[in-house]
Amino acid sequence: MILKNRAKPLPLRKLDAATPRLSPQFPGLPKMKEDAKMQQQGYNGEIKVDYFLDNLVPMYTILQDVYLRVNGKNFQIDSLIIANYSIIIVDSKNYKGTITFNTILNQLTRSDGKIESGYEYPITQVKNQKFHLQNWLKQHNLGHIPIKCFVAIADPSTVVQVEGDQEEIGKYVVHAAEVPERIMNTDRQFGNKGAKKHSDYQIGKVILKECGEFDINLFKRYGLRTTDILPGVICPDCGVRGMKRVYNGWQCGNCKCFSRNEHMKAIDDYLLLVKDSITNKACAWFLGNITRGTATRILKKSGLAYHQKHRCWRRE
Ligand SMILES: [Zn+2]
Repeated sequence: MILKNRAKPLPLRKLDAATPRLSPQFPGLPKMKEDAKMQQQGYNGEIKVDYFLDNLVPMYTILQDVYLRVNGKNFQIDSLIIANYSIIIVDSKNYKGTITFNTILNQLTRSDGKIESGYEYPITQVKNQKFHLQNWLKQHNLGHIPIKCFVAIADPSTVVQVEGDQEEIGKYVVHAAEVPERIMNTDRQFGNKGAKKHSDYQIGKVILKECGEFDINLFKRYGLRTTDILPGVICPDCGVRGMKRVYNGWQCGNCKCFSRNEHMKAIDDYLLLVKDSITNKACAWFLGNITRGTATRILKKSGLAYHQKHRCWRRE
């Protein structure tokens, strides 16, 4: 079964919420858009790999997007499969074109036919994840469980080349469609070698209890100030900010489209980017200087909870 489901990562949600709300002149904007693009590509790759890992759901316990802390360090794992005898780490990589692993230099390069670019070496990354997980399991009296890690190539059209030790790369790097079988074989081998059978569900519950969520401070990282976040309801069709409040909804001054509940997206943006609570006054301003009465009516229907003491609304 799947004990923890993948959701769009918080840093990506924040970037996607912030970029349409910044002035086009904001100096950090190109970097933010580039980072959002990279993160989206990574997330798409993870979802592609999930599709294949789904085959293992009836047999094993799966946790997606695991974020744990050990010895003062955080580590993140795309997919953790708790099989019968072992735990398997799967890290997804979503590259287009041809990738080349160089086992002598521990280097990964990618070529799209025109430009060649270098990346962090995925095998070092998964080995680090394994090391951290091993320590984490030891601290939770589960140190006896064997761990194996794989790098899953999410896109079937990615061509994998090796310079140096092919066998070494073959131990770790697998096309996504092959991953389930490799996991089953690996787990069986651990069983044959005498590893103890464990309750995958119970171990999954222990890990789930300690899982945090990876987050970034957008403001520190990109030199943003809260005042850089511009107010207004954003048109879902054309993306222009500043839909006008009309009877029972919102209308775009640019493309004339109408939306009934587009304010909810704006309130979400506020809670994600500015503050985890919103007052009637802040809401009236953020939705484009609507009346306080309309803001109150909107907030009452928003599903947020009112906190009398601080006179603000927040998620329960
Ligand atoms: Zn529009």
